[in-house]
Amino acid sequence: MNLYEQDRIQQIRENKLVEQNGKCAACGKYFKNGEKIELAHILPQRRWILKMYGEAIIHHPMNMRLTHAGDCNARVQMSPNKSELVMKHVQAIEEKIEEEQRC
Ligand SMILES: [Zn+2]
Repeated sequence: MNLYEQDRIQQIRENKLVEQNGKCAACGKYFKNGEKIELAHILPQRRWILKMYGEAIIHHPMNMRLTHAGDCNARVQMSPNKSELVMKHVQAIEEKIEEEQRC
């Protein structure tokens, strides 16, 4: 990971912490000092999933949530099937990307 990527990830983590009011997206408990906090992907970043939906979707902040490590991280994951829920999630990110490209 290069410095630009590191900065981007750090920025996403800070934004998410504010958005989520300092709470885990899975269990809803406040993060405590020193606890390991992970940037979890909702649609997981596996190679075939990246191929199916594209990096712009998978690496978009809207596809990420801050969680505790381990179980909490696993709990925010969506299985990448073609369910209505997944399609809605992907569509919302696509719309956001379009919006970001306009300005
Ligand atoms: Zn948690």
